[in-house]
Amino acid sequence: MWGGPRVGRRSDLAAVGSALKTLRPSGLSPSGRRGPIGDVIDGRRIADEVRADLRPRLDRLRESGTVPGLAAILVGDNPASRLYVRMKGKACEEMGMAHWTLELPVDVAEPKLLGEIRRLNRDPKVHGILVQQPLPSPIRTPEAVAAVDPMKDVDCFHPENVGLVLIGTPRFAPATPAGVVELLVRSGNPPDGKDVVIVGRSNIVGKPLAALLVQKARGANATVTVTHSATRALAEHTRRADILISAAGSPGSITADMVRDGAVVIDVGINRVADPNAKGGFRTVGDVDFDPVRRKARAITPVPGGVGPMTIAMLLSNTVRAAESTASH
Ligand code: NDP
Repeated sequence: MWGGPRVGRRSDLAAVGSALKTLRPSGLSPSGRRGPIGDVIDGRRIADEVRADLRPRLDRLRESGTVPGLAAILVGDNPASRLYVRMKGKACEEMGMAHWTLELPVDVAEPKLLGEIRRLNRDPKVHGILVQQPLPSPIRTPEAVAAVDPMKDVDCFHPENVGLVLIGTPRFAPATPAGVVELLVRSGNPPDGKDVVIVGRSNIVGKPLAALLVQKARGANATVTVTHSATRALAEHTRRADILISAAGSPGSITADMVRDGAVVIDVGINRVADPNAKGGFRTVGDVDFDPVRRKARAITPVPGGVGPMTIAMLLSNTVRAAESTASH
């Protein structure tokens, strides 16, 4: 079991300071001793820190007459997608940023969708565009993603931006993966030198997260294993992890026997499970069997309140960055 604060191998004073700042309130007593169960990494608090860092940049943009604006395209009536888009709009409002939601019917023709994306590409008030996924078939997701101007692609899904992430010169940070990295670094669990095992290889989470973590850079430098549904003996991989990140989208898929003592566990999954006692008849859970895993872990993210708020904070950050690059031209 883990026995004290660890802040990575580097004797980097800034990293140590930041790690201590974030560790103390969550898990350590003033004497530096910790309880028998893992710290809960508070994604809402860390997302607030990220947002606070954006405020001076927003002030500078406003002084130069620029209000960053985010346009979301919502196709169809998927309740989860609708909720995510509403949360992103609300987050923009809280930061004094502009936002618009373009709603299209579930049976919208692909050329119509692509035409709307191109219209937003040309609109100078719009700095960031997101096309909420999943898109209903028969719309081809790669076509929609590639239609977004790479300079406005704040989700970082365009092939050009994905390539820039892979070679280590990102224009934008892929929102959920970058949110995971921020959570790790700001909670005092930097991935540098660690064995990181990711469950899931989607283009939204698993692959770009691996691309971030494998870079030869501070806040990365991890040894990364990406697992998926064809992985044999998954638990043999997950049990090796210093940092285990689950993005399988399957409730209860990470159980305590799959986790090494003292591991840091990041739960990206957002799943709805039936619960007759809950409002609406369901509740939201992650992939991880939270309580038993927490008893083994050094630190763990909750669902909700873990990765989700970070995804939104990173999206805001990318929109500010997009506005800054327009303002500087
Ligand atoms: P996908 O369904 O696109 O990908 C899931 C991945 O997990 C696939 O690579 C799949 O393997 C793998 N997988 C599924 N089950 C298993 C299993 N039992 N063992 C090993 N691998 C498995 O999902 P996303 O990546 O889009 O999302 C994953 C989860 O994260 C979802 O719950 C989603 O809601 C959530 N999410 C949360 C976000 C947040 O902000 N917190 C943002 C984005 C997503 P294979 O490739 O072989 O099919």
